[in-house]
Amino acid sequence: MTDQPKLGFDTLQVHAGARPDPATGARQVPIYQTTAYVFRDADHAAALFNLQEVGYIYSRLTNPTVAALQERIATLEGGAGGVCCSSGHAAQIMALFPLMGPGKNIVASSRLYGGTITQFSQTIKRFGWSATFVDIDDPKAVEAAINDDTRAIFCETIANPGGHIADIDGLAAIADKAGIPLIVDNTTATPYLCRPIEHGATLVVHSTTKYLTGNGTVTGGCVVDSGKFDWKANDKFPSLSQPEPAYHGMVFADALGPMAFTFHGIAIGLRDLGMTMNPQAAHYTLMGIETLSLRMERHVQNAMKIATWLENDPRVDYVTYAGLESSPYSKLVPKICPNGAGALFTIAVKGGYDACVKLVDNLDIFSHVANLGDTRSLIIHPASTTHRQLAEAQQVAAGAGPNIVRLSIGIETAEDLIADLDQALAKATA
Ligand SMILES: *Cc1c(COP(=O)(O)O)cnc(C)c1O
Repeated sequence: MTDQPKLGFDTLQVHAGARPDPATGARQVPIYQTTAYVFRDADHAAALFNLQEVGYIYSRLTNPTVAALQERIATLEGGAGGVCCSSGHAAQIMALFPLMGPGKNIVASSRLYGGTITQFSQTIKRFGWSATFVDIDDPKAVEAAINDDTRAIFCETIANPGGHIADIDGLAAIADKAGIPLIVDNTTATPYLCRPIEHGATLVVHSTTKYLTGNGTVTGGCVVDSGKFDWKANDKFPSLSQPEPAYHGMVFADALGPMAFTFHGIAIGLRDLGMTMNPQAAHYTLMGIETLSLRMERHVQNAMKIATWLENDPRVDYVTYAGLESSPYSKLVPKICPNGAGALFTIAVKGGYDACVKLVDNLDIFSHVANLGDTRSLIIHPASTTHRQLAEAQQVAAGAGPNIVRLSIGIETAEDLIADLDQALAKATA
């Protein structure tokens, strides 16, 4: 992929990974709705099973529609390769799986998508893995949390719920020093706003469910590897640097070089964990990505207009959008997200819990849902929904106090969204 001529993002989002179908000339990527693929002969089958030849065996591992999507996302992220999976949460497990083992830990940002906090604080313990949560704005705290058993640092580019921006370059330098990869969840930024690999990240994970698909139709995920990490520089990553018994003692890092992590993800991860994306889902996401830059531009323009309007409204105490000059993260925007600070942020509503509940109930265009990154504008009141099990002090620490609502700004007409917020705020604070 690195020797391709340097094409623009808008060209790559339409063309990368896709070519006219060799059998029919079909211009659009066909949905290869098949489980298995006929081998040319017994030698061909043997070569495929030994990873000596790349090809299609069985759709739990590889499928041409999914392969087109993998290549497209990896290209847009500037990575060596990508592996698509059934959801964003599957992508996170697939990213960690080759790195981790019983007793190993990750250092994770304390500001993450709520489901990721649960996955990392509860569920991964069943594998003997653990996570230490830190404020990633404090580099000393990140360094102090790393120990000999740490195998990765994990953060989000634009974090839920407040839209805080991570200093990816700074975190990558800390990860380099510790000899471990930085994993960045780039769901809320998308490669149009930020390419974490250019800032030193080793792995990028996505929930393709959100902006990449963009229309709220299918769940999916993707892990992209930079291809730049030296898995043999220390003894921390035996899955990649030591002989693999299930492939005749092959060492992935030696045999596959920059594609080691990607092939491990397919040949071991998808083979044995089975968190496979189906070709229908890959089709919807390929359709979505064709217009990614156009949608993200409008998402960002709308978010800026609406955040500015809300910041000047007396019924609102404050707005956390990093695109506003008042945000402590505004200085990071030109460096990390030069095309804009995304479209996800929170507002503090005067009148607290009751006003927030009324605001959510009185909106017409905004939908009250636990989702983000749709073409539609979305709103949620975390304290009465996703964060309702937490004590008030914990809610406040998570940026989700009783007076907070989270907005995911869509691509509708900005003036319509402002009018909707205006009438609902009037009812909420009457
Ligand atoms: C939605 C989301 C996830 C989880 O993705 P699913 O596709 O729902 O499994 C992870 N990270 C972020 C930032 C998300 O928004």
